[in-house]
Amino acid sequence: MISRRRLIQQLSALPLMGGLMSFDLAGASRLIQPGATTPATRNYFQELGIRTFINAAGTYTSMTGSLMTDEVKQAYLETSEDFVDIDELQDKVGERIASLLGCEAATVTSGASSAITLGTAGVLTGTDPEKAKKLPHLQGTGMKTEVIMQRKHYIDYAHAMENCGVKIVYVDTKDELKKAINRNTAMYYFVNFLNYEGQIQWEDVLEVCQAHKIPTMIDCAADAPPAESLSKYTDMGFDMVCFSGGKGLRGPQSAGVLLGKKKYIEAARVSAPPRANTVGRGMKVNKEEIVAMMVAIESYLKRDHKKDWALWENQVNLIKKGVDDIPGLKAKIDVPVLANVVPTLNLSWNTKQVKISGDQLKEEMRKGHPSIEIAGGGKNSVSITTWMLKPGQERIVASRLSEILHQKSM
Ligand SMILES: *Cc1c(COP(=O)(O)O)cnc(C)c1O
Repeated sequence: MISRRRLIQQLSALPLMGGLMSFDLAGASRLIQPGATTPATRNYFQELGIRTFINAAGTYTSMTGSLMTDEVKQAYLETSEDFVDIDELQDKVGERIASLLGCEAATVTSGASSAITLGTAGVLTGTDPEKAKKLPHLQGTGMKTEVIMQRKHYIDYAHAMENCGVKIVYVDTKDELKKAINRNTAMYYFVNFLNYEGQIQWEDVLEVCQAHKIPTMIDCAADAPPAESLSKYTDMGFDMVCFSGGKGLRGPQSAGVLLGKKKYIEAARVSAPPRANTVGRGMKVNKEEIVAMMVAIESYLKRDHKKDWALWENQVNLIKKGVDDIPGLKAKIDVPVLANVVPTLNLSWNTKQVKISGDQLKEEMRKGHPSIEIAGGGKNSVSITTWMLKPGQERIVASRLSEILHQKSM
């Protein structure tokens, strides 16, 4: 039995019992009273001395993606009360998501990255668990070994395929693509937001790959909004489509979906938990996230996207107005075409007239109270979006930005 003294020692090691210095937004410290009963809500970030901030940057993984909607949070809490069979849950949730989006099949993954890994694994192994055990070792197994992508589509997330042991073969042109296909070709990987960067666009890739019976995967991680994207690429003919759950969809940050042909989704599941002797075992998604991801998609489809857009536009315009009169500064509202498709305020300036660098401006915004994160940076530019703001925060961003830039342009 634990001694009374040990118990007291252990209890006093707990932050709330021991009396902990914590820091509020203004940086002032205050003491949480020892012996106080646990408050109804704890401010964990404050307790930990963690800076929270207004996110005027966007859906960055390092900034914890997006905020889950109330419906998603509710689903998370309510599903935490019961035990279920995880495969049965994935089956049913997958069916529901597929029917909502009008594709053959779907499964919840631990993010778009894991959708890429599991999809690749499935293409290699089919539904054979013995093959799944062998990944990432392909040599001498009879499994295919190469994935083709365009050099211009290179992104760091391509590593998610290499986890399965495949080698990436790079091409630039349609002709090179045709020549690169051989009996070791397992799959083609397409990065949606880079479509116009590459020389081979959606239709041409699909034409060549379908003619050679090469499965195609498209990475659309950050490409909703618009909502149509959720169905567009499976409709277009891609065999597998990967989305992040914790970006524009506002599901759990550590969830995502793999959508597509039944055959490939079933094969991907062979490398997914609860199965353990697989490359995907560390990509567990708990029951709460599985359901929350489904709810995120349901509520995303129901949203009034026009209203969201009007709000973002108003907010971005408000922030723009605060800096429009600054000599030597150019403020422009752009909308990216394929990913992060939201009104984006791009600011750039002549540093002889506005005497601050982009990086310094970011730091100034960060250092204020409340702290604000914006995107871009470097020598003389930054960019700002409003879709991750809570209502009203646009005014704080507008006044702080205007204040700093006016000060630096005097
Ligand atoms: C964010 C992103 C990923 C990774 O998505 P996660 O859901 O964080 O795993 C992959 N590809 C692209 C293009 C992305 O933007």
